[in-house]
Amino acid sequence: MKRARPLPSYLVQRYHGWKATTYAENQVWYRRLASEGQRPRAMVISCCDSRVHVTSIFGADQGEFFIHRNVANLVPPYLPDGDHHGTSAAVEYAVTVLKVAHLIVLGHSQCGGVKGCLDMCKGHAPQLEVKESFVGRWMDILKPKYEHVAAIADEDEQVRQLEKHAVVASLENLMTFPFITSAVDDGTLSLHGLWTDIGEGGLQCFDPAADRFVPV
Ligand SMILES: [Zn+2]
Repeated sequence: MKRARPLPSYLVQRYHGWKATTYAENQVWYRRLASEGQRPRAMVISCCDSRVHVTSIFGADQGEFFIHRNVANLVPPYLPDGDHHGTSAAVEYAVTVLKVAHLIVLGHSQCGGVKGCLDMCKGHAPQLEVKESFVGRWMDILKPKYEHVAAIADEDEQVRQLEKHAVVASLENLMTFPFITSAVDDGTLSLHGLWTDIGEGGLQCFDPAADRFVPV
């Protein structure tokens, strides 16, 4: 691979700063993590969005969360077709090998992926409808939920509601994986749906009994 280039200097500087401070102060802990392996209690599936910072929200240390990020924190349905499935692979490893106790799907406000899906459903995003659009085909996972928000007049509220439906769609799709259904039935795994408001620092949790998100 001849096209790879050296790291930009601002990242080199930041790395050396971290090595000399955070790492140096916790070297024993890092070495223990390396030798004993990881035993995270929870897996988090969140959006790639740079504003969503799972480890900050929960004040987490290294080794605590097994994190998978993709566009709009979506989990596709169980589809063992021999193709490449990155999200399904991460979920399989977390549940069957690491045996995490909690699987958390974290959605967020102002999600560009969800907005793109909404635009596509309204016929305003032809660039996402072509077969070659990876984002468009990925957002197809969320399309069936559009009917739940189609009647909402205010577009900001419409996006917000679809962001929450994205979390619920992922939870529903997680339950199509046989190893997840059995772990949930055994009581060794629990699923959780969260949605965070970036500007307000808010966090809401899906309440299945009320069928809505309630503040944490
Ligand atoms: Zn997003």
